Amino acid sequence: MAHVQRTPVAEHMARVDVLLAPLRVRGSEEVPLIAALHRVTAGEIVSPIALPPFRNSQMDGFAVRATDLAVTPVTLPVVREIAAAAGEPGELAPGTAIRIMTGAPVPAGADAVVPIEDTSVEGDTVTIARGRTAGEYVREAGSDLAAGDRLLPAGTRLASRHLAALAAAGLATVDVRTVVRVAVISTGSELVVPGEPLGPGQIPDANGIALATAVRAAGGELVAQGRVHDEPATLAAAFDQAIGNGAELLLTSGGISMGDHEVVRQLLEPLGAHVDVLAMQPGGPQALATYRDIPVVCFPGNPVSSQLSFELFVAPLLRELAGLPTPRRATLVLEEALRSVPGRRQFLRGRRLDGDRVATVSGSGSHLVAALAASDLIIDVPEDVIDLAAGDSVETWEL
Ligand code: AMP
Ligand code: MG
Repeated sequence: MAHVQRTPVAEHMARVDVLLAPLRVRGSEEVPLIAALHRVTAGEIVSPIALPPFRNSQMDGFAVRATDLAVTPVTLPVVREIAAAAGEPGELAPGTAIRIMTGAPVPAGADAVVPIEDTSVEGDTVTIARGRTAGEYVREAGSDLAAGDRLLPAGTRLASRHLAALAAAGLATVDVRTVVRVAVISTGSELVVPGEPLGPGQIPDANGIALATAVRAAGGELVAQGRVHDEPATLAAAFDQAIGNGAELLLTSGGISMGDHEVVRQLLEPLGAHVDVLAMQPGGPQALATYRDIPVVCFPGNPVSSQLSFELFVAPLLRELAGLPTPRRATLVLEEALRSVPGRRQFLRGRRLDGDRVATVSGSGSHLVAALAASDLIIDVPEDVIDLAAGDSVETWEL
């Protein structure tokens, strides 16, 4: 393929952006809080009530008027008790104390709570040794958030702390963005279900599990996962079924290079697929298409190529829509010298050593699936960089 004009990675990324732009228009749905973990708020959420909703005690102790403690020690009659959920708290008469529990409503007139451990109780009286400032151990209504104020901004990926705040505000459901529904289809007559016995020339389908789980890790929903032989009609049937399952995005592996049975090309080129060879290694062959109005992003079959291609071209959008952070990038110091292919952006598998040092893991072959598993980062070597010496800086991202 030396004669082929290779397309820069950035150009393919731009083409993928255009193809996948419709996925950015997300609908929303109302889901119960218990089902909303890791979903993303569609709009900003305001609290219908104040937090806390009423003035309440921060301690088990005695509700008092701070002015009654101007001269201490002082002994006050304990006139009654207010427990949590006690209903209307009534009023505290001057010169008296009310026994109060944590979370119970503070009676009108009271402006401080003296913790039980700071008092001595005898019969129906309580003795308090020192004065208190107004407001001590009293949680004012709205001191956390006022009614009608913003509880969460739009685009919040909901963790349990966010869901707790929604529950505290008395909400039962939350309006969240719909998740991108993705189907993954592995192509190749040599593929068998992982775990099945291998006949001559057969290999387990590694890309299916790789892409399906990578979709989920990037915040997408997997609605179909298929495996088809190198027959265009079978691939079309798999696409149809995936679309029937609600797929909004189809991902394929294999069948787009220069062999005699390139099933993805056979099906999609007549439909106007854009087939390309990129200036990258691994992952040169790539294709983009639309099938029955659904975008199709086609990756090469070699497992390292397809995984890396997903990470480069599809994962960023899924993560963005799911409110997930991008993988951490770091400039690290290369442990050994290496040569990169001229005119190709090379993505090498690496492992971080102590401090800022990084070493490559195994070679650059796109079939080295175990070496990829032994890696914890990718070293991104630009097209124009050919020779790197030990001690040179390289850009990396975490896997
Ligand atoms: P292809 O892109 O279809 O020419 O496949 C390139 C190489 O990747 C071949 O060695 C295939 O056997 C291998 N391959 C294709 N699909 C898969 C898959 N789903 N899992 C593991 N290896 C694959
Ligand atoms: Mg193939």
